[in-house]
Formats: sequence, structure tokens, C-alpha cells
Amino acid sequence: MDRSKQNKYSSNEKNDNGDGGSVLNGHFDGMVKRAAGGPQAPGAESAPHRSTSAVMESWKEERTRSLEDNEMSLPSLAAAYTTILRGLGENPQRQGLLKTPWRAATAMQFFTKGYQEKIIDVLNDAIFDEDHDEMVIVKDIDMFSMCEHHLVPIFGRVHIGYLPNKRVLGLSKLARIVEIYSRRLQVQERLTKQIAVAITEALQPTGVGVVIEATHMCMVMRGVQKMNSKTVTSTMLGNFREDPKTRDEFLRLIKS
Ligand SMILES: [Zn+2]
Repeated sequence: MDRSKQNKYSSNEKNDNGDGGSVLNGHFDGMVKRAAGGPQAPGAESAPHRSTSAVMESWKEERTRSLEDNEMSLPSLAAAYTTILRGLGENPQRQGLLKTPWRAATAMQFFTKGYQEKIIDVLNDAIFDEDHDEMVIVKDIDMFSMCEHHLVPIFGRVHIGYLPNKRVLGLSKLARIVEIYSRRLQVQERLTKQIAVAITEALQPTGVGVVIEATHMCMVMRGVQKMNSKTVTSTMLGNFREDPKTRDEFLRLIKS
């Protein structure tokens, strides 16, 4: 297996917002673009011939939340919601709100269930050797996430394309990768990059492109932007970054 291409990606980490300059990122002012635990983790990309198993090891070390953790933290999480209700001037004892703290706590655990899963578990038995070298695209993957600044929903669609280098991933697994990273507290830029890097590390493809179009409730509900404003982010790695023809083909296909 030729891994010589892997290093190429390390110089391509810069987030690419080149999708027509349509990023409406006023919301992200002052954001640190560096993804925690992401591609720039010390040493993560520096080893020239990092084996797949080493990558898998790094995914195993990913922080996860167990079902027992959920159970244990539910009472304190519910108590926190009771405090929030009081802080809002509500009476947590009135009938309609009696079960709200528990419901809200359980719902929040569900909205963040991506912390309970690891990318490694998704990829197990899903990577195939295949002599296919045409672009693979899965578009319009539904995405529901939570803004880490305001704890309100971000939702939209994810489009993924890659050029295989003798390895492909089961198609449904691309949506699973989206699910795991989106069901966490997120900013859209990091989510975009995490998906692209996961595919890169799993398949070492010739190139990867990820585009996310999303609505941020913290923007539309607070009237900062127009109701229908969408935030578009993209990460292009490898050929998708270096070759305008490849990138254009990807962007054209996800719009058709
Ligand atoms: Zn927000």
C-alpha cells in the first residue's frame, strides 16, 4: 500500500472557505480555528509513514461518554435545568414543567450522543480494497448539531466527495461519520474539517471535499441574520484543493 501521499495532506489543513466566498461567519468572530483533538494534535500528522493502525489507535483514544455516564449525570443535569427554569422567572413546580428538567436533560444527552460513539467503531469492516478511481460523492446528508456557543441547534446538509486510492468506504458509513461528529457541541468549521480528516485518515484517498450548508438557530432566532440565511463551509484536501478541475467537478455535482 502506497502511503506516500499521506503527507501531502498535512500542508493542506487550512480551512478552505473557497465556495464562492459565501461563508457568513460573523457569528464565529474570534473563533479559534484549531480543532481540539483534530488534525493538528501534536504529532498527529507529522509521522511520515504513519500506519493505519496508528491512526486507529488515535481514534481509540477519543474521549467518549458511556451509557453509565449518562445515567449517572442525569440527576445533576436535570437539577441544572430546574435552575435554568427558575432563572428564567418560571415556576418549576407548575404542572406543565414538572417533568421538563428530566425531559430536557434526556433530550440534551440524545442531541450530543456523538460523544458516545467512536469513529473507529464505524470503520470496522467497512473499508474495502477496490480498484475504483472515479470520484465518489454522497450529497444531501441530513445533519443536526448543537452550536457550542449558544447550545441551540445547527442543522443542514453535508456533501462529501473523495477520489479513492485503492480503498473505498461503505457508502452508509459516510453518513455515520457525519452523525458522530455532528451530534456533539460544534462549530460548523470544525465539523467540516473533522469529517474531511476522518475520511482522509481512514482511506488515504487522492483527495477529499466536504461542503456543509447549515442554518444556525442562534443567528435566525436572534435576528442577527435574515431568516433564510445559510452558512456554507468547505474543506478541500489533496486533489480537491490543488486541482481546480477536480474541485469544480465536485462542486458542480453536488449542486446538480
Ligand atoms: Zn451559536
